[in-house]
Amino acid sequence: MTTYQTVNPATGEKGREFPNLNEAEVADVLTRSQSGYEAWRHTTLEERAEMLATTAALYEKRADELARIISTEMGKPITEALAEVEISTAIFQWYAVNGIGLLDEEPLDVAGAEESVVHKRPIGPLLGVMPWNFPYYQVARFAAPNLMLGNTILLKHASSCPQSASVIEEIFQQAGLPRDAYINIFVSTDQVAEIIADSRVQGVSLTGSEKAGASVAETAGRNLKKVVLELGGSDPFIVLDSDDMAATVASATKGRLSNTGQACNGAKRFIVLEDVYDDFVAKLVASFEAITPGDPLNKETVLGPLSSQTALDDLIEQVDNAVTDGATVLTGGKKIDGPGAFIEPTLLTDVTPDMAAYSEELFGPVAVVYKVASADEAVTLANSSAFGLSGSVWSTDLERARGVADQLDVGMAFVNEHGTTLPGLPFGGVKRSGFGRELGSWGMDEFVNKKLVRVSAA
Ligand code: NAP
Repeated sequence: MTTYQTVNPATGEKGREFPNLNEAEVADVLTRSQSGYEAWRHTTLEERAEMLATTAALYEKRADELARIISTEMGKPITEALAEVEISTAIFQWYAVNGIGLLDEEPLDVAGAEESVVHKRPIGPLLGVMPWNFPYYQVARFAAPNLMLGNTILLKHASSCPQSASVIEEIFQQAGLPRDAYINIFVSTDQVAEIIADSRVQGVSLTGSEKAGASVAETAGRNLKKVVLELGGSDPFIVLDSDDMAATVASATKGRLSNTGQACNGAKRFIVLEDVYDDFVAKLVASFEAITPGDPLNKETVLGPLSSQTALDDLIEQVDNAVTDGATVLTGGKKIDGPGAFIEPTLLTDVTPDMAAYSEELFGPVAVVYKVASADEAVTLANSSAFGLSGSVWSTDLERARGVADQLDVGMAFVNEHGTTLPGLPFGGVKRSGFGRELGSWGMDEFVNKKLVRVSAA
């Protein structure tokens, strides 16, 4: 049985438990979501855009309160929590401003008829299954474009963040969204499967692990439902050269340690050309050693606890196994004593393809550094991962870096930046990082009926 409860990972303190829906309540939310759809789909685009703009304004107004909730729920350092509220606000605002234009009808060559037009129409109630690592941002990415489109949403959030899940629903209602157009649901994974199978639900979007993604996609496939999966990553950060290694290492540190290393698109594998390798590694070790994890509610804290004791135990086990298999710890590698789920920022090297640490996602402040002899070798190593979310290439030679970025088998490639996310940029991966795209116009193209209407003279 899934238990929806906040446990502050910095202190171990337990918060309120939220009751799960029973079977009758699940049946009820399915009915409400369908009837909500019948009403919401007939609202005007202007009404939907206005609701999103009001949602954005409420996020802005309640930013401090919202940030504090996730800092205590999943340990995000408060300055990063505020930044997450800000990007979520920007996403609602972006769709409020651009959503109507993105739904313009597309006239086609009439080709013998009076009129041939493609309209973008909603498809119905959708299920979102979301993770704890960016509680507001992940939901905004899915909900903003789909509510703009006229779909309705049932949202199953991670069981560790029931408070942020509840406040998201509350803000939509405050913004004037009818209560059945977005329903937060505390359900088990078995109930998730039942909901996907229900004939009223038209699609499911999951952000999370490969295991959960495979399970949801299997149920969706069996029931012929559209699915979008945003899964894990092991993003390469390729350093070809640098004329300011301190700045490159500052970006590497941020790329690996932000969100305490628990970002799908965090820089996880540092692939460094041999002539700059020693300088990069020495500076990265110094940079990691200068950071002490601390209270996420303190504005000075840059590294918080992991999201839970289980997450900490799992990560420590991965590091220990890597060391047993022959990896070298350049710094860190240990739990920090105390009630919180804290780990030292950790740097590993000598990781080889036969080790689990080479292919698994390390979901925390643990980086692996590899030395390569050429840009071609860097590309081969980068693409040897089963994941393909994003990757970055760092160099003063933009042409060379662009050429390398172009060869990465990823959904998002960057030169001299890592992990940028903006409302108008597509987000998503290839290979085992999933399929489908969120944000921008692409986020509106997943759960849409591109409906051809062709009119000929009688
Ligand atoms: P997770 O265990 O897969 O949880 C994510 C969501 O899926 C939660 O709501 C979880 O519910 C639910 N869930 C778990 N098993 C399920 C199942 N069998 N059927 C239906 N729902 C299920 O993921 P996590 O480990 O907490 O999150 C981290 C993962 O998410 C990492 O791999 C990370 O890279 C990935 N991620 C990807 C993106 C992206 O955009 N590509 C963004 C953020 C995170 P419970 O909480 O109730 O278990």
